Amino acid sequence: MPRIPAVRDRLKDTPVAAPKRVLLAAPRGYCAGVDRAVIAVEKALEHFGSPVYVRKQIVHNIHVVSTLERQGAIFVDDVAEVPTGSHIVFSAHGVSPAVVSAAAERGLEAIDATCPLVTKVHREAVRFSRDNFDILLIGHAGHEEVEGTMGHAPDRTTLVNGPADVAALEVRDPDNLVWLSQTTLSVDETMETVRLLRERFPNLHNPPSDDICYATQNRQVAIKKVAEEADLVIVVGSANSSNTVRLVDVALEHGAKAAYRVDYASEIQQEWLEGMATIGVTSGASVPEVLVQEVLDDLADAGYADVQRVVTAEEDLMFSLPKELRKDVNGEADSRGLGGRTRQLDWQAK
Ligand code: SF4
Repeated sequence: MPRIPAVRDRLKDTPVAAPKRVLLAAPRGYCAGVDRAVIAVEKALEHFGSPVYVRKQIVHNIHVVSTLERQGAIFVDDVAEVPTGSHIVFSAHGVSPAVVSAAAERGLEAIDATCPLVTKVHREAVRFSRDNFDILLIGHAGHEEVEGTMGHAPDRTTLVNGPADVAALEVRDPDNLVWLSQTTLSVDETMETVRLLRERFPNLHNPPSDDICYATQNRQVAIKKVAEEADLVIVVGSANSSNTVRLVDVALEHGAKAAYRVDYASEIQQEWLEGMATIGVTSGASVPEVLVQEVLDDLADAGYADVQRVVTAEEDLMFSLPKELRKDVNGEADSRGLGGRTRQLDWQAK
């Protein structure tokens, strides 16, 4: 991803009572599912030429989307907007079977960039539905991932937005009930929702494994540790990125006096820094590292040049690309299914 032209020296170095420093959370930024989805669009453009259509934002980050648009991707809300015979990429958040069928009926060449960890939840929904369970899906109404998952068991799934929804729930058979969740929720809030669900429905079944994904969990653990010592936390990411917004909530719940989300460093306000000695920095799972670097550069201008990493986990997960893209542009297969790409997260190199 290209860097944003920085507006340097916009923030002033004003005195505070203690030494200024930045605590930089790790892991942060790109997860394996986002990395795969972004590469999928780039490779689709290489293989098939422009335009390549993408249903919804490939990942929820404004910078990633606008960069891919400049490279020739066209983002649409509905497959009905795509000319017959075109290539269309389904986003990392996944789609319902109805969307897959609509694309096929339209004669589109679909490339599925659904994160494999979202596909796992889809499979759970199908299996539990087939086994005559009703599903309580904990997630946010209107989120694309939730729509995609509900579409795999539409007659069996009830959405639970959070703890406040539990009291009014009505279920068909409380003994054949399972909970699943969106992958990018707050772990603590989801566990509270499950606790309340179990109070009402003691025979509630658990999913076979965590639905909240490793990347969401790891980023929340890291920002909790940072927030314990930070006066202010800055989270880089877009407003429609669920896991990014959760990082702001988690920072505030775990000790930060203030926490703000920014898409770009230029959104940091001078008054946020007043009296703040320790600033925590992290980024959501769909955020390229260049955007974090811009934040660090701007904070250095304001006297926060001492950057200390707070590492709570190492990540090395990689997912193979969608099958249509596993060869490089010369048609050579790649043993790891990465289509000639290598993956090295910027933050791991530092
Ligand atoms: S946040 Fe988790 S579920 Fe979403 S794309 Fe990343 S790894 Fe996949």
